[in-house]
Amino acid sequence: MDLIERMTGRLPRLLADIEELVSCESPSTDHAALARSSDLVADLGKRHLGVAPERIDVDGRTHLRWRLGDGPTRVLVLGHHDTVWPIGSLTTHPFGVTDGVLRGPGCVDMKAGVVLALHVLAELGVPDGVTLLVTADEELGSPTSRPLVEGEAAGCAAALVLESAGPGGALKTARKGISRYQVRVHGRAAHAGLDPERGVNATVELAHQVLAIAALGDPERGTTVTPTLLSAGTAANTVPATGEVAVDVRARDAAEQGRVDAAMRALRPVLPGARLAVLGGPNRPPMAASASTALFERAVTVAARLGLPAPTSAAVGGGSDGNFTAGIGTPTLDGLGAVGGGAHADDEHVLVDALPARAALIAALIADVLGSGRLG
Ligand SMILES: [Zn+2]
Repeated sequence: MDLIERMTGRLPRLLADIEELVSCESPSTDHAALARSSDLVADLGKRHLGVAPERIDVDGRTHLRWRLGDGPTRVLVLGHHDTVWPIGSLTTHPFGVTDGVLRGPGCVDMKAGVVLALHVLAELGVPDGVTLLVTADEELGSPTSRPLVEGEAAGCAAALVLESAGPGGALKTARKGISRYQVRVHGRAAHAGLDPERGVNATVELAHQVLAIAALGDPERGTTVTPTLLSAGTAANTVPATGEVAVDVRARDAAEQGRVDAAMRALRPVLPGARLAVLGGPNRPPMAASASTALFERAVTVAARLGLPAPTSAAVGGGSDGNFTAGIGTPTLDGLGAVGGGAHADDEHVLVDALPARAALIAALIADVLGSGRLG
């Protein structure tokens, strides 16, 4: 029986495991929910891999690590079990499979990916030299798991990231770097009717800053600078004393990320008496296409061996932990998880028919990198 047939045989169990995981809600900000979810992932992993994970608790979040075998890690398989969906989302977006489309909060991003990883590693006989890391705060930008991700990736021949596939099942071979800022304005409150001239209007100052910030983007270079959440003031009849705006920056290369960072820090107040504070900075470095070239070529080769269509590649604006592994120089291929769409959106879904071939591709790629020869 070839690898795709074996993975097809696993499909009922794959679906049952995905249902179990999706049914355990795990918003990144809810420690109690994350604790339940990490217990479930640990339990599922023990069932498939025969060993319990190491549990790494950082600031109330539990990350799970399976280091398989005694030797050094050559392949890091990376996933996360947190989602952007708040508790109660199962009521509005229940788990279900209809006409080959699986739905439920966090299914494509990336509970199906975590389940694929467990089945793949089980099918490969729990191979030496692989570490599976499933983190709990990816959707927040990995504030507590970043050192762990980078530490595990260091020196590996490959970091394989099980985030959802791009359009049509594309592998993600480049991701933009991400910076986040909070720009705070300090003005002075005054009565808007009696003596507005005594005030320094934080809303007006923010208006100046928002336009200056939005102008920092460079569409030709793929750099976007987007003012997002904005707030100011305390009452409708008071000159606002304070205000702030959040800023999301995406850039294809480190030079652009640095250019915008310098410009953000060079912002100066326009109104006399106003003060500015710029907090934040670069979060995820860009994942350059060069980090993925060799692994993508391997994926094309193993797909051909399996009789699968050649994978396509996509460069995307969204970040993942692949940005961190590529950032420290580890060859990285992302988008190896489930095929589907609608991550973070109402139409989030997984295409059931694509799961066995995806599992076979991941398994063959891991085996190829480990040098254990042809499979299936
Ligand atoms: Zn994700």
